Amino acid sequence: MAKDPVCGMEVDEKKAKFKAEHMGKTYYFCSEICKEKFEENPHKYMSM
Ligand SMILES: [Zn+2]
Repeated sequence: MAKDPVCGMEVDEKKAKFKAEHMGKTYYFCSEICKEKFEENPHKYMSM
């Protein structure tokens, strides 16, 4: 399981529809809203 860095929810990376790559790392999200929030300001969430 991966962790949605925006809301902290556990996300199954095999089923995840919402993902973004940032600085060589792939992040998974529970929803498009979380993905959009991350992409707006990735640095805010990266350290989590
Ligand atoms: Zn989320």
